[in-house]
Amino acid sequence: MTSRIYYTDPYCRRFEAVVTKAFEHEGRAAALLDKTAFYPTSGGQPFDVGALTARRGATESTVDVVDTVDLDDEVGHILSAPLPAGTVVVGEIDWSRRFDHMQQHTGQHVLSAAFDRLFGNRTMSFHMGAELSTIDLAKEMSWDQIARAEGEASRVIWDNRQVAIRFVSSDQATMLPLRKEPVRAGVLRLIEIQDFDLSACGGTHVARTGAIGAIAVPAVEKFKGGVRVTFVCGARVLRVFGTLRESVAGSVRALSVLPQELPAAIERIQTEARDLRRSIKRFQESLAAHEAARLAGEVVVEALDGWDAQGLKTIAMEITARTRALVALFSTTTPIAVVIARSPDRQLDAASVLRALTDRFGGRGGGKADLAQGGGLSGNLVDICSAARELLNRAASIP
Ligand SMILES: [Zn+2]
Repeated sequence: MTSRIYYTDPYCRRFEAVVTKAFEHEGRAAALLDKTAFYPTSGGQPFDVGALTARRGATESTVDVVDTVDLDDEVGHILSAPLPAGTVVVGEIDWSRRFDHMQQHTGQHVLSAAFDRLFGNRTMSFHMGAELSTIDLAKEMSWDQIARAEGEASRVIWDNRQVAIRFVSSDQATMLPLRKEPVRAGVLRLIEIQDFDLSACGGTHVARTGAIGAIAVPAVEKFKGGVRVTFVCGARVLRVFGTLRESVAGSVRALSVLPQELPAAIERIQTEARDLRRSIKRFQESLAAHEAARLAGEVVVEALDGWDAQGLKTIAMEITARTRALVALFSTTTPIAVVIARSPDRQLDAASVLRALTDRFGGRGGGKADLAQGGGLSGNLVDICSAARELLNRAASIP
């Protein structure tokens, strides 16, 4: 059974230990130590990394700890190279990674307790990511409530309250006001934030709330009847702030407005764009009518400049509505868009004409007997048009 130093001394970053077993874990070299400060992935907190250094006489050799895994009673250290059992090592954990985890984890206790105390909203689960962490709350929260919990958590951080570690039996625990029912029996490890929160947890935490530094909630989304609250603590708050500052500065420059005017400016641009799209659609419709009148005939094969697939379709439908026509229209863009259409009283399977064209010139599409659309054709437009003309003429000559 590995003695877990971090249970009682989460600030221990260097320790001496003996390799008690060398083995392979999922194809990777691994070792058990008699004691360790390395935290294995559990309870929402990711694993520690670092190094183990072995001394043999005057020579020193170091292997990396690339992952740490929880193996019930033992802590498995996944290594960059094997270490034989009996080796005496000095372990050193990557402290900046670990301290960041301690800040996020303690911040989670404070934030969860704030939601619980202010709104009776229970934390259902917790996940710590590499950039952002989340807690899932049982009930929905408004942004106003989120901001109040954020404020309450911040006050507890600024109070610099003690974060104490206590061990109690599960019987004793039933007498205590734990925020959450403990899931395990036997000896429980409790984390107590002075006059604010008491919960059972096996993770690593800072010694006083001031070390969390800062806490902020950048995003909230609906999740399983409640909400998923994204939060950051410590240096991550500065990183998130930096990212937001950059994107706000870029947007402010592009739109020539003040930061607080951004939402209104974006709304104005969206309204303008919607109006423009409507005008363009009206112009296209009337232009399509003119094009259709210009092109009207029995067999119409044309490559049209400046029209997209939707425009070609509108023109084709105008032509087939005006005259007894067989129509093949192409865009002059690359890849080429195509529309095949016929008037209701003409004989032609537009879909099979399209298929004949895509078989020869590539691309794809589909449709019905009276109207088929495709795109992605490649080749010389003159060749494509003459092939289409041949297909339509053949259909036209069949009575
Ligand atoms: Zn914890």
